[in-house]
Amino acid sequence: MGLTRYFERRNLKHSGEPGDDAKEYDAPIFVIHEHKASNHHFDFRLECDGVLKSWAVPKGLSTDPREKRLAVQTEDHPLAYASFEGVIPEGEYGAGPVLLWDEGPFDNATRQEGRPVTLTRALEDGFAEIRLHGHKLCGGYVLKKFDSAEGDDKWLIIKKADDEADARRNPVSTEPQSVKSGRKIDELKEQDQ
Ligand code: MN
Repeated sequence: MGLTRYFERRNLKHSGEPGDDAKEYDAPIFVIHEHKASNHHFDFRLECDGVLKSWAVPKGLSTDPREKRLAVQTEDHPLAYASFEGVIPEGEYGAGPVLLWDEGPFDNATRQEGRPVTLTRALEDGFAEIRLHGHKLCGGYVLKKFDSAEGDDKWLIIKKADDEADARRNPVSTEPQSVKSGRKIDELKEQDQ
């Protein structure tokens, strides 16, 4: 039976009890929401300092290190938003369906002059290296801020050339299902509106 029942009966985040891999529960989380608002995009969010730092990524994240994806930083979101999936009603900000496209823990792997730095510091300095442990996306990614002359909110997000890099994959188009509900974004709209 293993630990299945142990985990089924508990929410370890609330109970404070140990899991079988403490790191998995200690690590901060990332989420990617697919958001079909007036423009279709993906919202990439990283837990940092008790909030979700957020970027709108028009094309979504790539698994190909040659693909540099534009990421426009948006407002921080509350941590509780991490599990959100649903349809934002017409007339509201960001109206349209929001699908939980990927989620998981991540590690901050940013170093400056050979020394590890906090994610807070890394983001302030405009360069962060993270390692995702998601359902669809894994391995290293770099977030790099544009020079401020080009706009303070513009970043690039680029896959690192590591074992998880795969130029043949295109999960944005081939893996559209929600990791929460298994639904696709238009199915969400049909059922919730
Ligand atoms: Mn959005």
